[in-house]
Amino acid sequence: MSSATESGVVVESYGRRVVVARAEGERVTCKVRGRRLEVVAGDLVRIEPDPTDDDWTVTDRLDRRNVLCRSDSRGLDESIAANLDQLAIVVAPRPPSDPFIVDRYLAGAAYAGITALLVVNKQDLPPEERELEFLADLERASLRVYRVSARSGAGLADLRSALAGQRTLFAGQSGVGKSSLFNTLSGSDVRATRTLSGASGEGRHTTVSSAILTLSWGELVDSPGVRDYAPPLVPQRTVQDGYAEIARLAGSCRFQDCLHQREPACAVRDAVATGGVAERRYESYRRLLNLMRQLTSRRGWRA
Ligand code: GDP
Ligand code: ZN
Repeated sequence: MSSATESGVVVESYGRRVVVARAEGERVTCKVRGRRLEVVAGDLVRIEPDPTDDDWTVTDRLDRRNVLCRSDSRGLDESIAANLDQLAIVVAPRPPSDPFIVDRYLAGAAYAGITALLVVNKQDLPPEERELEFLADLERASLRVYRVSARSGAGLADLRSALAGQRTLFAGQSGVGKSSLFNTLSGSDVRATRTLSGASGEGRHTTVSSAILTLSWGELVDSPGVRDYAPPLVPQRTVQDGYAEIARLAGSCRFQDCLHQREPACAVRDAVATGGVAERRYESYRRLLNLMRQLTSRRGWRA
């Protein structure tokens, strides 16, 4: 309608307020129109200037290529960031990363159709302290693994090539070194500063749901909200898609709708018995299946 309407990319999201990078790069703060329109970092949106003040208004969201979601504390789907190229899951030997949370990130990425990679930080620690047992099982499931140290700089060149030209969301538990990695990777890149946080104090008191650090060589997406992660609700049959090595075997089960629990002639349970699928990964699959059942019944109860 208005000729002043233009499009842009959401680079910071604080609920109903977002920062949008306009086509020529200028950043403007916007209100999101209405209650139903949900926008997160990475979204392409239409914006128009608000005649009543200096702000802009997001009027529409364009189609998403993908969106990474989570289940929030009430068990409802919540979008984290959109139009991602990949998800980097950061882990560290200290504090020890929870392998089940790593599995959940992996599953969430798979459900969203986003490729994942694992970043193992703090590799400057002595060898006996940098062991992470669960890594072997994930590498066997053909996950890309980058061993780095934000402190010493080891492995960062390889990681940087994996991130170059990509929009990568970083996820990880508190203390693994995500902020340190962001600082090291962004170097002195002046564009890597947030618009809202700090400036007016607004960002400081508002929960950031996600923000994009635009570097000259790639985009890093920060999302403090993904620390304790549970994937969004998916049908029971889909749960296995989050476990590459299990999904691969599912076609060999006797029953096409096998959930690999107590069904006879289950290729997955056979593989667990013979070591082809790691017990911990199978246990993780079963826990996620249970979580999806709980989410389903909680929602049924709501509706
Ligand atoms: P975040 O919570 O994931 O953002 O983690 P931080 O970046 O705040 O780091 C948590 C702690 O780990 C801090 O004390 C860092 O100094 C430390 N740390 C971060 N990266 C490394 C690393 O590569 N090696 C070691 N030894 N410590 C690190
Ligand atoms: Zn089966």
